Amino acid sequence: MKAHTLVIGAGIAGLQAALDLAEQGRQVVLVEKNPSIGGRMISLSKVYPTLDCASCITTPRMASVAHHPLIHTLTYTEVLGVAKNEDGTFRAHLRKKPRYIEEDKCIGCKRCEEVCPVYIRDDFEHQLGAKKAISIPFTNAIPQFPVLEPQSCTWCGACANACPVDCIDFTQESRDLFVEVDAVLLATGFQLTPIDAKAQYGGGKLRNVISSLQGERLLAPHGPYGRVLRPSDGKVPDSIAFVQCAGSRDASLGVPYCSRVCCMYAIKQAMLLSGSLPTADITIYYMDIRAFGKGYEAFYQNAKAMGINFVKAKVGRIREIEDGNLALRIERQEGTAQPEEAQHDLVILSLGLTPQWNPGQLAWEVKTASDGFVATPGAPLDPAATTQDGVFACGTATGPKDIVDSIMEAGNAATEVGKRLEIRAPMVPGGAS
Ligand SMILES: Cc1cc2nc3c(=O)[nH]c(=O)nc-3n(C[C@H](O)[C@H](O)[C@H](O)COP(=O)(O)OP(=O)(O)OC[C@H]3O[C@@H](n4cnc5c(N)ncnc54)[C@H](O)[C@@H]3O)c2cc1C
Repeated sequence: MKAHTLVIGAGIAGLQAALDLAEQGRQVVLVEKNPSIGGRMISLSKVYPTLDCASCITTPRMASVAHHPLIHTLTYTEVLGVAKNEDGTFRAHLRKKPRYIEEDKCIGCKRCEEVCPVYIRDDFEHQLGAKKAISIPFTNAIPQFPVLEPQSCTWCGACANACPVDCIDFTQESRDLFVEVDAVLLATGFQLTPIDAKAQYGGGKLRNVISSLQGERLLAPHGPYGRVLRPSDGKVPDSIAFVQCAGSRDASLGVPYCSRVCCMYAIKQAMLLSGSLPTADITIYYMDIRAFGKGYEAFYQNAKAMGINFVKAKVGRIREIEDGNLALRIERQEGTAQPEEAQHDLVILSLGLTPQWNPGQLAWEVKTASDGFVATPGAPLDPAATTQDGVFACGTATGPKDIVDSIMEAGNAATEVGKRLEIRAPMVPGGAS
């Protein structure tokens, strides 16, 4: 396969960059390791500061990418290696993982999913819900192909018998692909710090201590329970606490930096909770509130006006008391210095953002900075350039940032890639190069 650019990662940054490049008339191969494009944004509830429904504004962009004639999207595909050729082009070695269905036959009817007898934990719901061992990853996934999980499948054959187009293939194997490109754009995004990294908070052990991405799913319109319920017993919570900096600004975790989005997403989730559960008591324990973007300070002030409690305090420990409720040991940073205990029935940890993928693991000279994110030595004037000529980066692959900044970086990166392509593969009148 040949294209002008390989974009790695189909979150909002990769989607935007791929679209911008295609609009310049450039051929793009977009590689995503998950079964669907959309990245983290498609799993969010609503987005600050506008409170637009995340899936309503992400799905059209995903569809534009999927249907663009100049973008070839490869989902469920891993990057095994990228080598630089002597002429400055790149050769990428990709591996398409087996879904155990024939994609050119599948009509996305979900009959296989309906008849499958095996339930497994749902990764898209961050383990809060269940799905079938063969299933389409989520309602508005693109593409609408099911994936069979071989480690959970009992090979009973029910899906194959029910499939109206005979597309189940239990013998399918992974397939290697090679792509030749003039430029590579890294948009590989972020992951959260592990929920159990701070043992004193009980994450991973106490069922009512959840991560911020689980909080997003509880609040999402198509979430695991269809409403806000706490995981241990399905009770409607009436006292909810957010613990800020639960994975950032902490050198002991190797994350000394601020993750930049946690204050705002906690305020957003608190506002949405207050809308869903008007009588609930909602508290945010914080070190300081960083509401730096356009309209963000007003968003914060609105949350205060809505009655969200902001308590400037460090949370030292969380322990379970009766009925799955939680006792938080807090030290206020203002007023009394005496430690106190506060009780809540659901706690959401604002975990930190770390890189999802280290490009340095491939045999090429793309370096990461001391925080582990892709190094951009040309910043601030050239923020998309990496340490390798012809390799660019954008979005949270280069550091924590919100959607607005990710989209702006993606646009800038597409322009920089376009400049390189204009030298190496100039456009000829009519659009092709
Ligand atoms: C709980 C929470 C709530 C948030 N709420 C908001 C909000 O309301 N408003 C806002 O502006 N921001 C919000 N954010 C931040 C927002 O999620 C990010 O700004 C945005 O998702 C960044 O997009 P991205 O494309 O850079 O990364 P991602 O969304 O992480 O996408 C990266 C993609 O790359 C893929 N990938 C990674 N490595 C590889 C590889 N080796 N090969 C192939 N594919 C790969 C991943 O599978 C993924 O699909 C929130 C963040 C969190 C954690």
